[in-house]
Amino acid sequence: MTWLLPVTDLKQWDYCPRVVFYAYLMPGLRPLTFKMEAGLAAHEREEKREKRRSGRLYGLPAAERIEDVALQSQRLGLSGRLDLVLRQGDQAWPVDYKLSRRTGIATHFKLQLAAYGLLLEDVWGVTSDRGYLYSIPNRRAEIVRFTTRLRNKAKRTVAEIRDCIESERMPPPTSKRGRCVNCEFRRFCNDIF
Ligand code: SF4
Repeated sequence: MTWLLPVTDLKQWDYCPRVVFYAYLMPGLRPLTFKMEAGLAAHEREEKREKRRSGRLYGLPAAERIEDVALQSQRLGLSGRLDLVLRQGDQAWPVDYKLSRRTGIATHFKLQLAAYGLLLEDVWGVTSDRGYLYSIPNRRAEIVRFTTRLRNKAKRTVAEIRDCIESERMPPPTSKRGRCVNCEFRRFCNDIF
């Protein structure tokens, strides 16, 4: 029986691999900052409002809405919890949320959604060819197509993270050093400053 990687780690890994590494190797270190708390509260409020809406928002008026879905797969080595899944026949589509107004979908959101799609296919035996990213401030859903390339990238990322944690080998830092400015792990990355 293998340990399962939470899908949310893929998003963090794409942001900076070291953030995931530190979180595993130094558990309990990461503080819940005010920004994170405010974000979580906004997420919860929107989740409640969103539950009253229909699948029309996603162009799927006939789809069944299934809320708070927990998924685990030993085969993929992944686990995840989705606020919402839309299902129609033998197809299912994950819905994820973002707190940003920025249009366009960053790679880390695509990766996370694709990993949820892989989980749905593996655990439910459905086809998941796309997912939806709902922007809370814009009140708008955008589509992410699960191309072969994106699926493969999600699988590769899972393998990379697992290897890094199991071998306790420090991964490279993010190449976007602007992300380091307010990072709570900055004091551990002495090699790059
Ligand atoms: S300081 Fe920079 S490289 Fe180090 S964990 Fe934070 S974001 Fe990553």
